[in-house]
Amino acid sequence: MGFIDPHIHMVSRTTEDYEKMAIAGCLAVSEPAFWAGYDRRTPEGFYDYFRHLTEFEPRRGKQFGIRHYSWLGLNPKEAEDLEFSEEVIALLPEFLGRSNVLGIGEIGLNKISRNELRVFQLQVELAIEYQQLIMVHTPHLEDKLKGTRWILDVLRESNAPPERTLIDHVEEHTAPMVLDRGFWAGITLYPFSKCSIPRAVDLVESHGSDRLMVNSGGDWGQSDPLSVPRFMLEMRLRGHDPKAIEGPTLSHAIQFFAQSRKFSMD
Ligand SMILES: [Zn+2]
Repeated sequence: MGFIDPHIHMVSRTTEDYEKMAIAGCLAVSEPAFWAGYDRRTPEGFYDYFRHLTEFEPRRGKQFGIRHYSWLGLNPKEAEDLEFSEEVIALLPEFLGRSNVLGIGEIGLNKISRNELRVFQLQVELAIEYQQLIMVHTPHLEDKLKGTRWILDVLRESNAPPERTLIDHVEEHTAPMVLDRGFWAGITLYPFSKCSIPRAVDLVESHGSDRLMVNSGGDWGQSDPLSVPRFMLEMRLRGHDPKAIEGPTLSHAIQFFAQSRKFSMD
């Protein structure tokens, strides 16, 4: 059975990880722009990063038959300086036409500061203006509920289309408010923090999996590029049939991504 990992930062992973993912059945990955492990000191640092996401990673994935898609934007961790942020946002339109770019992301909130909110809002507006899909990062731990509420408010005020927006890193207490308003939701499977695989399967069993997809969120931290196939294994061991497993690990991502003309699974 094939799978898609809709949220993984391949820039932080090795070429062997691509190979392991391909052996486990990975057909495509989508990589949102995020923190690079250090704060970039110039907008040109972002320019080079966007080139990396749109030129180098697709080539690495292709070696193993994995399609690599990307999302571009300024992450909340580096959004404190408004003037700097506006310079980075001004670079985005040049890249949005590139063949593997599905939309703007991951954007959102981290510490929930006033400037983060402003930079989030500017990028939501840009996504709407350029008819891009949106991928949103929700803050972790104790800020998640509050941050998710703020994010949903900004999206509503900006008239962002829920069916074209994925809200990521949902957990038990935020999934219902996201899904009830018509958004797509991502569950990030982490071995030590965020949502564990058994918790994610519980969530799918109790809420259903409509508009839900799971991802590894693989990045610089302790994370596992095989989280999605491990989730599939847990579902299988609990007796779920292939159709039920395919929704959150493959077909929902295809439905959501296919709203961009750039996405293809042929
Ligand atoms: Zn991420």
